[in-house]
Amino acid sequence: MDGTFESTPGEECGVFGVYAPGMDAAHIISFGLFALQHRGQESAGIAASDGQTTTVFKDMGLVSQVFDETTLAALPGHLGIGHTRYSTSGSTVWENAQPAFRQVDQTGIALGHNGNLTNTVDLAAQLGDDTSATDSMVMLNGIAEAIQDGRSDGRQLERALMSLLPQLEGAFSLVIMDQGHLVGVRDPHGYRPLCLGSLPEGGWVLASETAALDLVGAKFERDIEAGEMVVIDAGGVRSLLPFDGTDPRLCIFEFVYFARPDSNLYGQNVHGVRQQMGRRLAIEAPVEADVVVPVPESGIPAAQGFSVESGLPYADGLVKNRYIGRTFIEPTQMLRDRGIRLKLNPIPGNLEGKRIVLVDDSIVRGTTTRQLVRMVREAGALEVHLRISSPPYRWPCYYGMDTSDSSRLLAAQLSVDEIREFLDADSLAYLSLDGLHDSAGGSELGFCNACLSGDYPTPVDDRNDKFTLERR
Ligand code: SF4
Repeated sequence: MDGTFESTPGEECGVFGVYAPGMDAAHIISFGLFALQHRGQESAGIAASDGQTTTVFKDMGLVSQVFDETTLAALPGHLGIGHTRYSTSGSTVWENAQPAFRQVDQTGIALGHNGNLTNTVDLAAQLGDDTSATDSMVMLNGIAEAIQDGRSDGRQLERALMSLLPQLEGAFSLVIMDQGHLVGVRDPHGYRPLCLGSLPEGGWVLASETAALDLVGAKFERDIEAGEMVVIDAGGVRSLLPFDGTDPRLCIFEFVYFARPDSNLYGQNVHGVRQQMGRRLAIEAPVEADVVVPVPESGIPAAQGFSVESGLPYADGLVKNRYIGRTFIEPTQMLRDRGIRLKLNPIPGNLEGKRIVLVDDSIVRGTTTRQLVRMVREAGALEVHLRISSPPYRWPCYYGMDTSDSSRLLAAQLSVDEIREFLDADSLAYLSLDGLHDSAGGSELGFCNACLSGDYPTPVDDRNDKFTLERR
């Protein structure tokens, strides 16, 4: 992914939940959030309950900056949820950090959301909510209202969700809790992943990605299905179906870029799928060259696959400064002028005098890729052939990735040949949409590919863009 300080597309959010009688949920959640840190680095939070009261702690920053033994000790209880959040700079405020929390009479409700509703404006109007800054708060207020209207028989959260959820449109993988229940929900398209695991000591875990289960020693039980709600309490796990119909459309960018390589989606290892994308790319767009070089780290598995399929040797030609992308320090203009070198530096000995196949997973704005091509040439490469292991990114995403302004998308403005010219590459080829689907297990599994095809599974409307809402 061609991220720079200016052009990095918004990532998503990570959600995690634990119901583990006799155990300390907050500690388990904190480790789950470490595993989901890549999905959001701007704020982190945990809500925990001992069955009587619910405590929430959240703050701006990385999980390691927000939580320590002292803050975790202030979150007692066997039940809890956690969240890592991405947001745009305009909405980087504490109030929007999650879990979102509301007290309704004796019931404390906490909610963590990954995704983006596409009917927030209408929903807020319907609920008479003109104060919420985020779609997640609109949802929480809707749940609170439904709870107030209902009976207090211990199942009020479940009933409130059954009545509210069918009114939501767009992308939502949710973890929600009151003092006695942990709930997981995936929208009827299942844009964002969510899975269920079991702890060997007893107890249950919900997580955005399977890698987070591994980190806390939980066994993967199954994916939460698109359109499924699970309620976890002292009676175990119950599955409910709040929606009329389902049409699975897992975000294909989870395979391209978002998800950790050690996670599994649709039962397939993400790293293996990325290597397969590279193999397919080598078949679709072969090139006469000397060596295959990845853009680290995003292009590594596809470059490995390209190398295996093409028979061309694989070499590390660029070294990534692993920590710069996670800093909150804004580079000065002098450092900004150094551009890409803050993030990547070449190994000239592996590039000099060679025809290079440079592999990355995607191009969003192209500014970094352009600098990279120049850097590889300056390091002595004879030719630079760009190979991208996903199709051109032409349409905005309304389901949780912050690229909802197509003026930010290079491929929305230029043809592939114009992009090649802009990037000053000797050749440029993208993986086909069929190639991407096949690599990810086949289109019949059900994918959203709207940002690559313009085929949106649900109606979209700019008014509901999360990031526009949050900037109000
Ligand atoms: S539009 Fe693209 S990034 Fe957004 S959910 Fe669909 S595939 Fe994923």
